[in-house]
Amino acid sequence: MYWQSATGRKITLAEGDITRVSADAIVNAANSALAGGGGVDGAIHRAGGPEIMRELDGIRAQSGGCAAGSAVATRAGKLPARHVFHAVGPVYRDGRHGEGELLASCYRKCLELAEEHAVETISFPAISTGVYGYPIEEAAAIALREVVRHLERPDANVRQVIFVLFGRNAYETYVKALTSLSQQPAP
Ligand code: ADP
Repeated sequence: MYWQSATGRKITLAEGDITRVSADAIVNAANSALAGGGGVDGAIHRAGGPEIMRELDGIRAQSGGCAAGSAVATRAGKLPARHVFHAVGPVYRDGRHGEGELLASCYRKCLELAEEHAVETISFPAISTGVYGYPIEEAAAIALREVVRHLERPDANVRQVIFVLFGRNAYETYVKALTSLSQQPAP
């Protein structure tokens, strides 16, 4: 299942484990302490090896961590990628505490980092939709909106965004969101 911009840039949906998908950059759903955790964060550190955490230790020593809505870049250790962008999503409360804007900001920041690092392919998990409790339908719509906006920029270096969804339910939710996006008339 994929979407293509007028300029040939693509969004692809895949179901599975993000640590097994090759891309120039892999996005992690980190926490603001950059301290490692469960979920996709645990999987990325396990598969990537200790080099990633060593680099995060340096960032933490300098800046104390990373605020929700932002992201920091490290190398990717043993992962099939050049970079990991550690994005800190919002913890979902009730949707009235700026969660949507913070989640959108995570995607924008990762896409900015992608441009800075001359990344052409980037893979995203469904940030905030696990332990942080963001309803996945809403999170999918936000993620797709921000990525489409970026891919439609004439100067974007990124040419493919892969959403790697964990489990059938997450995958099907994104398929639905992408289908409804593709059916909207072009502006
Ligand atoms: P958060 O704290 O941001 O909610 P989680 O890691 O708990 O982060 O979950 C984010 C999303 O990543 C969830 O949809 C979860 O199912 C998914 N996920 C967990 N492990 C993996 C993995 N190995 N690859 C891709 N997605 C994963």
